[in-house]
Amino acid sequence: MKVLVINSGSSSIKYQLIEMEGERVLCKGIAERIGLDGSRLVHRVNEEKHVIEKDLPDHEEALKLVLNTLVDENLGVIKDLKEIDAVGHRVVHGGEKFKESVFVNEEVIKAIEEVSPLAPLHNPANLMGIKAAMKLLPGVPNVAVFDTAFHQTIPQKAYLYAIPYEYYEKYGVRRYGFHGTSHRYVSKRAAEILGKKLEELKIITCHIGNGASIAAVKHGKCVDTSMGFTPLEGLVMGTRSGDLDPAIPFFIMEKEGISPQEMYDILNKKSGVYGLSKGFSSDMRDIEEAALKGDEWCKLILDIYDYRIAKYIGAYAAAMNGVDAIVFTAGVGENSPITREDVCSYLEFLGVKLDKQKNEETIRGKEGIISTPDSRVKVLVVPTNEELMIARDTKEIVERLGKR
Ligand code: ADP
Repeated sequence: MKVLVINSGSSSIKYQLIEMEGERVLCKGIAERIGLDGSRLVHRVNEEKHVIEKDLPDHEEALKLVLNTLVDENLGVIKDLKEIDAVGHRVVHGGEKFKESVFVNEEVIKAIEEVSPLAPLHNPANLMGIKAAMKLLPGVPNVAVFDTAFHQTIPQKAYLYAIPYEYYEKYGVRRYGFHGTSHRYVSKRAAEILGKKLEELKIITCHIGNGASIAAVKHGKCVDTSMGFTPLEGLVMGTRSGDLDPAIPFFIMEKEGISPQEMYDILNKKSGVYGLSKGFSSDMRDIEEAALKGDEWCKLILDIYDYRIAKYIGAYAAAMNGVDAIVFTAGVGENSPITREDVCSYLEFLGVKLDKQKNEETIRGKEGIISTPDSRVKVLVVPTNEELMIARDTKEIVERLGKR
């Protein structure tokens, strides 16, 4: 079975064509700057990169170019579009409606539209991808995989905010959490690496990328996560503040005479590592490099960043009354031994012992255990693979429903 995985954003469509037998990526790429000047498709087969410059006024035209490229005589990897058995779509917000991945029909499309106010930038873009796929690949089943779904097992005590309850009832203001597909994938993979049943483990998964979140996964079910009503809550991120006193935005808005929307943009796009570094960089590589060269301010930023991660791990160990494994994933989690070592240095009280050499070696896509054999809590690095998780869900659902 071949599954086309699509991640449709407001001005881009990322895609992967996956052969499920052996779970091989046949090709991947991105159609970018949709609706803007300079739109193009970057298509990769193995290590080869091809760039096609083409005007892409909308998502349908962009997906058309993707599909044409898949069957192209020179760049393509299949002979006929009929070889695509199913399409799996990333959808950011499933609200409280979607607790797992679903086969897409008209009712599902309507429900995704209904939760769009909770993710106004993302869900409409995800839907454009779904609608384009349905039009251009008639008869091919589509499956929606939600970033929020894995977190729907979080209990009320962890998802309700202590504000007037009517806002939850009227507007659905609660913790939803994001990166769910990643947390689900790495927790499952960690159990496999440890040779244990997921249902027997208490795992803390740390997805530390440009956006970052932590989840407490108890016996295979998520019981808490650091992102909240929006992805703004929790850890210090590339450009997002993470946790702060809710009074601060009001204070700044009044002092600076700025609007709620401007404040919201500052917290999402101008804060975090970028804000702390006075606009120097949002990229942890730059901060680490400067810190290694002796820049005291960048050292402090690393401290703030790592301390927040460690605090959450401590909190989630309490939330689960214990922890068996801690997993690092995403850009920083997979590639930064410095951050991992610093975070783990706070966790010795839990029984974490890091194997420094393994920590240094496990980078750039490698997976493995980086704690010592006698470490009571295991520490792992697991490169995330949301696309594969989407493809697996898609295969499972279309086969179960007999759609293929
Ligand atoms: P997202 O998917 O949230 O955009 P990624 O998971 O791709 O982000 O992570 C990107 C971030 O990972 C970059 O901003 C960079 O800060 C960080 N990163 C990548 N490689 C390294 C590295 N070698 N050391 C430290 N940080 C790294």
